[in-house]
Amino acid sequence: MSPGPGLRHALATLVLPCLAACSGCQDGPRPRGEPLPQTPPLTRPADLPPGLGARAMEHVRALVAFGARHPGSPGWQRAVDYIAAQLEALGLPARRDSFRDAVEDLGFQNLSTRIPGGTERYLVLGAHHDTKITHGHDDPAHNFPFVGANDSASGVGLLLALAEHWRDHPPPATVELVFFDGEESIPFKWNLARALFGSRRYVAEYQRGLAARPDAPRIGAMILLDMVAATDLHIDDDSNSDRELKAIVRAAAVACGHERYFFANSLAVTDDHLPFRDAGIPVIDLIDLADNPQWHTPQDTLEHLSATSLQIVGEVVLTALPAIAVRHAPRAPAAPKTGTSGR
Ligand SMILES: [Zn+2]
Repeated sequence: MSPGPGLRHALATLVLPCLAACSGCQDGPRPRGEPLPQTPPLTRPADLPPGLGARAMEHVRALVAFGARHPGSPGWQRAVDYIAAQLEALGLPARRDSFRDAVEDLGFQNLSTRIPGGTERYLVLGAHHDTKITHGHDDPAHNFPFVGANDSASGVGLLLALAEHWRDHPPPATVELVFFDGEESIPFKWNLARALFGSRRYVAEYQRGLAARPDAPRIGAMILLDMVAATDLHIDDDSNSDRELKAIVRAAAVACGHERYFFANSLAVTDDHLPFRDAGIPVIDLIDLADNPQWHTPQDTLEHLSATSLQIVGEVVLTALPAIAVRHAPRAPAAPKTGTSGR
């Protein structure tokens, strides 16, 4: 994920005035995005699982133990197999989509599974499972050991913990969990044409499916989790995300008492949500990118993560989902009752 070409500059212009205004301090005033639309207050569900963050962190530890997980690496294959095994242990068939990019001469694997929630439209919840390539670059500063604990074992771990929660508590809409490969740019510096391989593939396959079968179920909205476990959690106000979805998420954060962790920094994020947005699907990226000193460094390790942060994001997602479902993946109205025919 990246602030994107040109957007990196925009981020710098947003952040630098703050540092200039409060040199030497980390927690000065932060830029705010434009006001979000009003949305009705939400209620925190009574059955939010208290151990969600701890369980997600167990998955994060397991993934980090595989080491680097860039496409083609041994750790990458072990991570894909781990995710599939976790889903299958829950009785969820793991769909593997292996594909090759001819230009890069590189193989990728997306994984997905669908959790029935009683709606025809479905919500995509996604995270990327690959880690950044940090070897073989011309600049020696771009070559270092990297395990991607927050980027993005954290998102994968939280999706797996949510899948476990939904085993006993059906989601408010049918949900498709998608574990994207190839999110990271192959060159160290962000290059959009050489990144987002898995999400572009997923959306292209989705559109091919709809072209062949126009009555097939459609995606109502897409929610992306990326870097959601930092001890210093602050989910950004991404201007590439849908404003109404952000308003629902903010209302969910307020309902949970977690609003201080959301939307303090405004920036435009280039991530796996963009192919969905470009296909006309409402999207939101829950990402902690601004002021993230461990991002794409050897320090993106377990010691900078917190199960509490995963719990906070998980609670907000579970609180927001019913409202997102009503808006984007509604249940069909109950069929009118027919009287007995008397025959
Ligand atoms: Zn990254």
